[in-house]
Amino acid sequence: MEYQSTRGGSTGVSASEAIVRGLAPDGGLYVPMSFPQADLEAWRSLPYPELAAKVVGCFLTDYDPAFLQKAAEDTYGAAFGGKAGHVEQVREGLYALELWHGPTCAFKDYALQLMPKLLVQGKKNLHRTEMTRILVATSGDTGKAALAGYAGLEGIQIAVFYPNAGTSEIQRLQMATQQGNNVAVFAVNGNFDDAQTGVKRVFADADVAAQLETRGIRLSSANSINWGRLVPQIVYYFYTYFRLAETGAMAWGQPVDFCVPTGNFGDILAGYYAKRMGLPVGRLVCASNENNVLTDFIRTGTYDARRAFHKTASPSMDILISSNLERLLYHVSGSAEKVAGWMKQLAAEGCYTVDADTLAAVQASFGCGWADDAQGAAEIRNRFEQDHYLCDTHTAVAFQVAESCRSAAPMVVLSTASPFKFPRDVLRALGGTVSESDFDAMDALTAKTGCRAPAALANLRTMPVRFTETIAPGEIRAAALR
Ligand SMILES: *Cc1c(COP(=O)(O)O)cnc(C)c1O
Repeated sequence: MEYQSTRGGSTGVSASEAIVRGLAPDGGLYVPMSFPQADLEAWRSLPYPELAAKVVGCFLTDYDPAFLQKAAEDTYGAAFGGKAGHVEQVREGLYALELWHGPTCAFKDYALQLMPKLLVQGKKNLHRTEMTRILVATSGDTGKAALAGYAGLEGIQIAVFYPNAGTSEIQRLQMATQQGNNVAVFAVNGNFDDAQTGVKRVFADADVAAQLETRGIRLSSANSINWGRLVPQIVYYFYTYFRLAETGAMAWGQPVDFCVPTGNFGDILAGYYAKRMGLPVGRLVCASNENNVLTDFIRTGTYDARRAFHKTASPSMDILISSNLERLLYHVSGSAEKVAGWMKQLAAEGCYTVDADTLAAVQASFGCGWADDAQGAAEIRNRFEQDHYLCDTHTAVAFQVAESCRSAAPMVVLSTASPFKFPRDVLRALGGTVSESDFDAMDALTAKTGCRAPAALANLRTMPVRFTETIAPGEIRAAALR
């Protein structure tokens, strides 16, 4: 399988190169040059790790299948507590795909537990021996998931920058207690934008690159535009379909709809790849919070990022530039030239409009909708009171949107974080009294619902804090050079 840039600049790139490089030299994203076809009959009874090795193997054809098999077993076995791809029935015809049984309790573990291994092996495949230093600016979930994925890996260092007072107590402690001798964590005095701008500046700084090169170090990022982060997410769409068919939720070959709480469009795009590989996916419903730029785009064909940014109770979806949409636009329009034009317009004017054929092709596969914080909170309460199902603030947005997009097919909502990652918001939605402490809220949530906090979150209370350094935004450069 070979890859090319969505903007046409490079073709015939290997998977190893796409993963090690991250972004194509022309600023585009790497996409596969064809869609491999699934062998549904052969795959339907495979355990999760084996299925992952098969699906990922279809795309990473320059990786040794034995390596992929071992990597998938190491990733999706014990570390997910035997619950990789776990599906719960919520009510008749409505299901939750619980993607938060991994080590950091958010769906990003599916990608960030496997991709680091793919990066290390990709460097070996290309005979590259430099040290890779990963810089991450995070508003919460990505930082911890990346730390947990890269900790202890050979040839890798990782430094994470998060906004001081910009994350929840749980999220801060998840990062500050990270083990491993190749990790560093910095609180930045400022908001997420300050941290992100500072890190972006370091990436663009030729002097930093030159200084690091003399020390044999090359910078890289862990963000969700890397192909290595996207491909592991395709697996759980297949796995879910097979589990639903097994229980008779629908006849074999009949479609299933998926509703996905969306930010950067990575998770839902993986469902589109599954569909193009031959999985009977009905509609892919894109659920947004008040930052509803994607809802407007899917309805009208105009992507307009010139709007107020809302800080919501589902912070991992607070995004106005949804990077992975570029990949979808390439696949449905088939034109790198068009994509390059739209992205140029987006950068210059903050807005672009696709042609009617492209919009029709998007609408043929995707539904959409959005919910604000109050609707999300009502959804958390309703799902718990009516179905005894407890969900987090991101998943609640998807449940709310799913209701207005139901077809005759079973509907699967992707549940992207443990409710105990956002215990104060979830407790408040259930009508509980909320104090300052996340840990008190966890206890109150357990008392109210009978659900237990995942050990990885409960244990934070007593884990030793390793990282306490706070820096100014202007000191990010020096920290990245250490
Ligand atoms: C990152 C994240 C999302 C959004 O996923 P995208 O791939 O960026 O669309 C949704 N929910 C949670 C909990 C997340 O951490």
